[in-house]
Amino acid sequence: LSGRPNTVRLLFLGAAGVGKSALIRRFLHDRFEHKYTRTVEELHVLEYDTAGSGKMRLEILDTSGSYAFPAMRALSIRHSDAFALVYAVDDPGSLEEVRRLRDEILELRGSKSAPITVVGSKADLREIEGRVLLAADVMATVEDEWDANFVEASARTGGNAVGVFRALLQQVNPPRRLS
Ligand code: GDP
Ligand code: MG
Repeated sequence: LSGRPNTVRLLFLGAAGVGKSALIRRFLHDRFEHKYTRTVEELHVLEYDTAGSGKMRLEILDTSGSYAFPAMRALSIRHSDAFALVYAVDDPGSLEEVRRLRDEILELRGSKSAPITVVGSKADLREIEGRVLLAADVMATVEDEWDANFVEASARTGGNAVGVFRALLQQVNPPRRLS
């Protein structure tokens, strides 16, 4: 539960290099950079107007794929309102990591379900450019077996970056809509 009223905490998790920071940067600044900055952990705090429920304080926690701080990760998982589990469409191992992270979240929260949005990142990549994971296949698993949200997005083109946040906010309790 959030400490302040109308605060929504979003946690981004996933293997290193899948595009978590790039997606957040695209959403916040509508920019994309090719350089890869190794993130340890970064908290972005913003205020947004919502449709119907006034102002919302949004806390976006960007994490690294490294597990040097398992206790910190467990704490973050306990204190978040919704989870973006990010994989890259050219990296099957990163989807396995998403599966593992989901198990960890369910176990820590002692629940069979959680407000999870699985994000297929780097959606701009075509098969000739390295895409190996197809949206339809992953969506079937995520929506039918996991009962989680599924979206694909590209920080590079900006395609559906906002959709990632809409999906996350739709899952928090009570659901929020950006105005
Ligand atoms: P993070 O470790 O998950 O935060 O990953 P980053 O956001 O730092 O991105 C890792 C690398 O993937 C960078 O070199 C980015 O330029 C690249 N990248 C990120 N998003 C995209 C995307 O939407 N499309 C493509 N083609 N590359 C991306
Ligand atoms: Mg990062």
